[in-house]
Amino acid sequence: MLGETTDDDSNNEPNPTQTAAGELADAIRTTLGPNGLDKMVVGENGTVIVTNDGSKIIEWMDITHPVGRLVEQAAAAQDNTVGDGTTTAVVLVGALLEEAATLRSAGLHPTTIIDGYGRAVEAALDQLAQYERGLHSRQDDRLTQIAKTAVTGRWDDASTDRFAELTLSALQAIGFDRSRLTLKSYPGGELRESVCLDGVLVDLETSSTSLNTLSHPRTRTHDEPAIAMVDAEIGIEEPNNVESVELQDATQRNAFQAHEQDRRTELVEQVVQSGVTVLLCQKSIDEAVRTALAQRGVLPVERTRRDEFDVIARATGSTPVMSVDDLTADDTGTVGSVTQRTVGTAQTLVLQGCPEEHRATLLLRGGTPHVAEEVRRIVADCIDVTRVALDDGVFVPGGGAVPTALAMDLAALSREIPDRTQLVFDGFGTALEALPRTLATNAGTDPLTTLTEIKQRHDAGAETVGVGPDGHPRDMIDAGILEPAAVFRSALQRAVAVVTQILRVDDVVRTSTNERTADGEHDHAHAATGGYPWAVGH
Ligand code: ADP
Ligand code: MG
Repeated sequence: MLGETTDDDSNNEPNPTQTAAGELADAIRTTLGPNGLDKMVVGENGTVIVTNDGSKIIEWMDITHPVGRLVEQAAAAQDNTVGDGTTTAVVLVGALLEEAATLRSAGLHPTTIIDGYGRAVEAALDQLAQYERGLHSRQDDRLTQIAKTAVTGRWDDASTDRFAELTLSALQAIGFDRSRLTLKSYPGGELRESVCLDGVLVDLETSSTSLNTLSHPRTRTHDEPAIAMVDAEIGIEEPNNVESVELQDATQRNAFQAHEQDRRTELVEQVVQSGVTVLLCQKSIDEAVRTALAQRGVLPVERTRRDEFDVIARATGSTPVMSVDDLTADDTGTVGSVTQRTVGTAQTLVLQGCPEEHRATLLLRGGTPHVAEEVRRIVADCIDVTRVALDDGVFVPGGGAVPTALAMDLAALSREIPDRTQLVFDGFGTALEALPRTLATNAGTDPLTTLTEIKQRHDAGAETVGVGPDGHPRDMIDAGILEPAAVFRSALQRAVAVVTQILRVDDVVRTSTNERTADGEHDHAHAATGGYPWAVGH
């Protein structure tokens, strides 16, 4: 069949490259929107993950087909750059390929389709500007609505709304400087126990016995402590030459032990004398020193993570020293309070009210490690879309209102196109309509009826009408279903880029196969490349 020489005839055969991408789109389509179904992803080792997040599903799917991988990469890039809109991008890829197949059946050459799609996407992006609205400020309530829209359907509505609100209040508290926000999620708690802390939360090394040696209760607060930071091990210096202290007799051994004891006492005295109440060490602290410090009312914390150590230094205004011998009161810093807190099975230290550098921590909880991780990702997505919306300063109505409006604009523009590119513009518009259609289908309403009604409302001037959460037409601005314009813009651009790549590959195959079969080499190239036709040209 591949040997047929005319473009029209060969269009009827199943197209392996387009099918791979189409199948991926089919699998993902049902998860789009607030009524999207969850997918159960079963890992190789039998782990089961239930999620509604398109990007995660694609990431976890075992995609081996190279074309599927192209789509997967585009989805991953979408997720990494704007944090949302992956399902949208994949649905668009599927719809654009479907339209391309129809256009080819109508006799259009892939090159014509590629060029037409290129012009259509440019026209669509030009039109997009008229649906964009500006954010007033960083305090704009619509940022919260944007965050909520981004994570709708990922958990129950009350929880996702709360996570969006928590995220926004945390971001506002630190002036939207993401580097001052820490996300920590711990299993073994209820979602509603998640809170925003005004400060830094530090994980304490589980191997650290510093807290166990303390006789106080599990939660203890030090108000306005003097915090000292030591960037090296605290303990007895190891002798350089071990052999030289091979102890010959009991007298020597006693002398050596006495020396060690003196040194420990000295270390403890130095810390206490400098008025320190919390001692953070980047390395380990000698166990006896640790115990003695705790007895003297100093909280010793060892093996603080390097990155956290630096954060704490900045937030508290402490100057890390290399040795306790160098420690003076001037090197200490402070915060409002330091609290030891057990979260699930983790021991943590919470430094609240940092005077030097305002910081916030979102302490997230979930019943199981999977839930805790999902919660962390929900919050991370809220942070991403907020950043994207603020960077861009503009948002658009969600629920498929914009793709519907753009499809109508393209239909109007296509009437002025004299050649067959007109058909490509129309096809592109139909592909955009796949978004509102899919949202309606997933919400259980008839896609055609819903789309027709939405278009009528747009015609009547209500261009912000889209598919509401119940599947019926609704004004998206009134409903607070808003998205960063950049999410849709990026999804559209990436989808067109992938589709162009796929169509181009097909074009290469067709051309070279036709040339070869003219020489009598039937389908040889396909067999030689394990069925991957795009290897032909290489
Ligand atoms: P994506 O991976 O593309 O972000 P989603 O499953 O998050 O996919 O669905 C996004 C689509 O759902 C967008 O078109 C968005 O406008 C729409 N959407 C989100 N929340 C709502 C809602 N409450 N009502 C209607 N549509 C919504
Ligand atoms: Mg989303």
